[in-house]
Amino acid sequence: MPDNATDTNASPEPVDAVVIGAGVVGLAVARSLALAGRAVWVLEAEGAIGTGVSARNSEVIHAGIYYAAGSLKARLCVQGRQQLYAYCAERGIAHQRCGKLIVAGTPAQVELLRTTQAKAQANGVDDLQWLSRAQAQALEPALECQAALLSPSTGIVDSHALMLSLQADIENAGGQVVLNAPVDSVSLTQGADGRHWVRTQDGTCLAAHTVVNAAGLSAPTLARRIKGLAADKVPTPFYAKGSYFSLAGCAPFSHLVYPVPEAAGLGVHLTLDLGGQAKFGPDVEWVDAPDAFTVDPARAERFYAAVRQYWPGLPDGALQAAYAGIRPKISGPGAPAADFCVQGPSDHGVAGLVNLFGIESPGLTSALALGDYVAQRLEA
Ligand SMILES: Cc1cc2nc3c(=O)[nH]c(=O)nc-3n(C[C@H](O)[C@H](O)[C@H](O)COP(=O)(O)OP(=O)(O)OC[C@H]3O[C@@H](n4cnc5c(N)ncnc54)[C@H](O)[C@@H]3O)c2cc1C
Repeated sequence: MPDNATDTNASPEPVDAVVIGAGVVGLAVARSLALAGRAVWVLEAEGAIGTGVSARNSEVIHAGIYYAAGSLKARLCVQGRQQLYAYCAERGIAHQRCGKLIVAGTPAQVELLRTTQAKAQANGVDDLQWLSRAQAQALEPALECQAALLSPSTGIVDSHALMLSLQADIENAGGQVVLNAPVDSVSLTQGADGRHWVRTQDGTCLAAHTVVNAAGLSAPTLARRIKGLAADKVPTPFYAKGSYFSLAGCAPFSHLVYPVPEAAGLGVHLTLDLGGQAKFGPDVEWVDAPDAFTVDPARAERFYAAVRQYWPGLPDGALQAAYAGIRPKISGPGAPAADFCVQGPSDHGVAGLVNLFGIESPGLTSALALGDYVAQRLEA
C-alpha cells in the first residue's frame, strides 16, 4: 500500500477501481477491468489468492447443461467454457477435455435424462450424444446404467494455475493484488469527487470510482457493511456444504460420471483430477455458517450407496474422507436454485458499484465471462 493510504489521518488514497476478493471470479473481474484500461487494486483478506470457494471445488469445466434457459448461469457458463478452453490453451494451463457421462439408472431417470438433454439444447449445448446402455458400457465397462448422455465438451482444469495466470495478467496490465487486506467497510459516494471509500481492517482508506464486491461466501455480509446501500438489496445468504471422498487406488473410468441432477446439487458424481485420481462428491448438507470444512467419515455410507447406483463394483473400504467446500447460496433448502446475482448500478442506483452474490457452480467455468460481464455492467 502507498504511505498515505495507510495513514489514517491522511486523505484516502485515490485509486481507480477496487475489487474485493482474490478468488477466481474476483481475479477474472479485475483482469477484465485491467485489460479495459482501468487501474485496478484487488484487496484480498487472506495471505494468498484463491483460498476460498475457489480452493474447494471439483475443478470441472462445465458444458452448461443444467441451467434455466436464458439465465446468467446458462449464458455465462457456455461463453465462459469456450473462453476458458481458449485461455488455457494459449497460456499452457493444465486442463483436459475428458468428457462426462450423465447416467440414468431407472426408467424414471431415463425420462429425466431426456429433459436434461432438451435443457442443454436450449442453452446452446448442442454436442450431447445419447448413448444406450451398451454404448455407454463400450466407453466405460465398469459402468451400470440404462442410458447415458455423453458431454464431450466437459473437462477439468488446474484452477490454481488459472488463478496465477489471471493474477499475472492483472499485474502485467498495471494492476495489483494486495494480500492480507481484509475490507472492513465501504462508504458510498464520499468527497467532492464522488468516489467510494473502501476501508480495510488496518485503517487503510482508498477512494475508488469503482468497487466490486467479489467476496464469495462473505459477499452478503460485506454488502451489509456498505454504508449507503439499501438493506433490501442484500440477499439472505445460505450455505450448502459439499463433502468429497477420494478413491483409494485406480479408478476404472476415463470420463467424469454424474447421476441425473438432484435438487440442490448435481448428485454424488465421480470426477478425476489431472493426475487421474478419482474423487466422489460433493453431497449437500445445509449448514448455518461457512466455517466448518471437516468431512464427517460417517457420511461415507451414503456415498457408497449413491456411487454403487452407477458403479456396483466400488470395493468396500475404498472411500477416504477428503475435503469439503461450501456453496455460497442465495436460495435456501427446498427453494429452486437461484441464478448468479450480479447487482450493478441499474439494480441499486449506485454508480460504480457491483455486488456478486450466489456465485456457486458453475462459477469457475464462468469466471472469464463473468469478468467481462461485470466490466460491461459498469460501463452501461
Ligand atoms: C463444493 C463445490 C464444488 C464446485 N465445483 C465447481 C466446478 O466443478 N466447476 C465450476 O465451474 N464451479 C464449481 N464450483 C463453484 C466455484 O468454485 C465458485 O463459483 C468460485 O470458486 C467462486 O469464486 P469467487 O471468486 O466468487 O469466490 P472465492 O473463491 O470464495 O473468493 C472470494 C475471496 O474473497 C476474500 N474475501 C472475503 N471477505 C473479504 C473481505 N472482507 N475483504 C477482502 N477479501 C475478502 C476471500 O478470502 C476469498 O479469497 C464449486 C463450488 C463448490 C462449493
